[in-house]
Amino acid sequence: MAKKTIRDIELKNKSVLMRVDFNVPLNKDGSISDDTRITAALPTIEYAIEKGAKLILFSHLGRIKTAEDKATNSLKPVAARLSELIGRPVVFIPETRGEALEAAVKNLKSGDVLMFENTRFEDLDGNKESKNNPELGKYWASLGDVFVNDAFGTAHRAHASNVGIANNMEVSVAGLLLEKEINFIGGALENPERPFVAILGGAKVSDKIEVIKNLLKVADKVLIGGGMAFTFLKAQGFEVGKSLVELDKLDLAKELLELSKGKIELGFDVVTGKAFDKDTETNVRSFDAIPADEMGLDIGPKTVARFKEIIASAKTVVWNGPQGVFEMERFANGTLEVTKALADLHGKAITIVGGGDSAAAVAKFGLEDKFSHISTGGGASLEYLEGKVLPGVELVDVI
Ligand code: ADP
Ligand code: MG
Repeated sequence: MAKKTIRDIELKNKSVLMRVDFNVPLNKDGSISDDTRITAALPTIEYAIEKGAKLILFSHLGRIKTAEDKATNSLKPVAARLSELIGRPVVFIPETRGEALEAAVKNLKSGDVLMFENTRFEDLDGNKESKNNPELGKYWASLGDVFVNDAFGTAHRAHASNVGIANNMEVSVAGLLLEKEINFIGGALENPERPFVAILGGAKVSDKIEVIKNLLKVADKVLIGGGMAFTFLKAQGFEVGKSLVELDKLDLAKELLELSKGKIELGFDVVTGKAFDKDTETNVRSFDAIPADEMGLDIGPKTVARFKEIIASAKTVVWNGPQGVFEMERFANGTLEVTKALADLHGKAITIVGGGDSAAAVAKFGLEDKFSHISTGGGASLEYLEGKVLPGVELVDVI
């Protein structure tokens, strides 16, 4: 079902409540260490300003468990950075409710931008934000005329600042960033152009059981590398030495391999290390020759070649999970080669990356521009790939 977006509604002179994900990483001195999340929301923010909205922005930042957390998790520096980026003032109200906020909202003129304090400050008093306290959602909703959700990063959570507001609002639409996430991830899952290849990796099978199951339903091929591959190899009877293995997931791995009817590909070989160390001695080992005192830390060259061959003919690719310990130079090759293979599909296929570490790998190799979509939500993209209905997507009105 098509979802309503900010482009479908009138914004002129409307008080527009816009939930963004400004949960940026901060340095010890309180400065912003990476403003990607702010820049990712700019198209929606600039669109609303251009259309004459009175814009009220809000976000969570970090976790607020004690009063001291407030000092280190204020959105004030974020408001300042946003102001620089959009080249206009951003009124910052250091409250999450009350007269000062209400008066500032009333004072807004068409094209003005206001931001209020970290929504999770409300968690100090009974987790009102995170537990979706009905009174809080209703209160925030009372500040605006329409609600725009553009925070994909928290779309897997039903909080007062997304679901709570939408429950009290006549009009709730998606921002441009949320729309992009829905179109790419939702589109791949619901109606992919084929062949549809899923590439999975990362450390543990247990983190991604539901993702594997769901992608096995819709993908034509599921390539598995990274640490999780060893549970599948062990389930097939290979000795995997000191590699990461989840013994309690062997039966599940067997079941998935049977269920997959040949869709799952693990390749042929791995790059091993003697220790989990950046300077350790490395070897290429075929699956049937992994010594007891070595651990697999990357996919091997024959596996890379096989994966590249499958990727080359794909029309849709979803990738979640690094193929090796890419943080260490010696074990980065598999992840780099997969990144390059996907970059080569630029303009020829839809390529989607979900998962925080996978996105970090693509950024490390400097190939972000060659991907159709790099998801901005780690946890949210995982749950989306699991086939779950995300509350932050569900709340958006349908056309
Ligand atoms: P994402 O954040 O993209 O979903 P994960 O968090 O599941 O990915 O996994 C990423 C981590 O998996 C990386 O830190 C990487 O070092 C680790 N990893 C990949 N391959 C292996 C391996 N063979 N052994 C141990 N850890 C691995
Ligand atoms: Mg991760």
